[in-house]
Amino acid sequence: MERVRVTEGKTSFFAPVQDKNTQFPPGSAPIFYNPRMEANRDATVLFLSAVRPSEYLDAMGATGVRGLRVANETGTHTTINDIDPAAAAEIRANVKDLGLDAEVTCQDANALMSSRRFDCVDLDPFGTPAPFTDSGCRSARRFLCITATDTAPLCGAHLKAGMRRYWARPMNTEYHGEVGLRVLLGFAARQMIKYDRGIKPLFCFAHEHFIRLHLRVVPRVSAAEEARSRIGYILQCPHCFYRAEQAGMFPERRTCPRCGEVLSPVGPLWLGAINDPDLLEEMEARLPTMGLGTAAYLGRLLPLLRAELPTSSFYDYHRVAKRMRTSPPAMDVMLQRVQEAGYAATRTHYVGTGVKTGAPLEVVEAAVRGD
Ligand code: SAM
Repeated sequence: MERVRVTEGKTSFFAPVQDKNTQFPPGSAPIFYNPRMEANRDATVLFLSAVRPSEYLDAMGATGVRGLRVANETGTHTTINDIDPAAAAEIRANVKDLGLDAEVTCQDANALMSSRRFDCVDLDPFGTPAPFTDSGCRSARRFLCITATDTAPLCGAHLKAGMRRYWARPMNTEYHGEVGLRVLLGFAARQMIKYDRGIKPLFCFAHEHFIRLHLRVVPRVSAAEEARSRIGYILQCPHCFYRAEQAGMFPERRTCPRCGEVLSPVGPLWLGAINDPDLLEEMEARLPTMGLGTAAYLGRLLPLLRAELPTSSFYDYHRVAKRMRTSPPAMDVMLQRVQEAGYAATRTHYVGTGVKTGAPLEVVEAAVRGD
């Protein structure tokens, strides 16, 4: 196997050369390394440097890059696992080469997480994390991190796969990226609360082809109840941009007050905040000293997330304008008009033309027109 030395953040390691022509899908490569996930790994290194867990499990290591970086760049005691013996051998070689005090295991992640607990558990599988989330919830003491790259099932483009994996009905709306994140978050919450423990989302975002969750696990029945109360639905009009949030286990049958259509339930999904603004502020303060390759991206992302209103959807105001057969104003003007009408309004990290606001659709439309 041909290897190359790669540097990410402050860590140099060896990765097998990835032959894009012969190794498709990506999971068919002998040991997987995807440079496009550097932002995902940088985000986690930054997060862990702020929350400082006592130990960290990289449950699906591949080259081990994620766990190697956590150990090397945050000094956290780390265990790196992969079911593939060839991957485990590569991880061991990388641990030795870097002189790290990290444990390397070669087990099925579900078996490992069912037999041991870790302060922080990280799930980074190919595609869906659904088969690993239950054991991840049982294993994680204080923090649980989850990557999903099956955005088509999560966002509603592959409806049946999404329903099978997450027992949720997504919908391909203009805010589908946010639906995917909230369906995954709702699924993780349901997996956790059956153990009378709650989750608190600390740092969650969607980027390119992945969704990344960093969650606090809260070991109390009251926290599980609090998390349960955050699960519900978006009731979306199939014909216009009207939508309403609804908490609870069962979707209500409601009609659109604008066009009389029966609203389609999207979910169950997580309603409410997906980030902890104080933690994001601390991460922003740490960012300049971390030496991260994607610092510029994270430097734009963190303030956006910190400002984002905790509404469960957003309006793509360019689409609203198109439906109204008018030209959209500049984003700053749009936000100012909604704010002047008496409602909070912010940008969103999902798309550049997204507006988060609690304002009714009529106010959004008036702001688009400039009434
Ligand atoms: N975390 C890595 C990174 O940041 O580069 C990428 C991990 S890769 C997407 C998924 C890895 O999961 C593969 O190396 C694969 O061998 C491993 N894997 C698949 N099924 C597994 C299982 N049941 N238990 C543990 N590892 C598994």
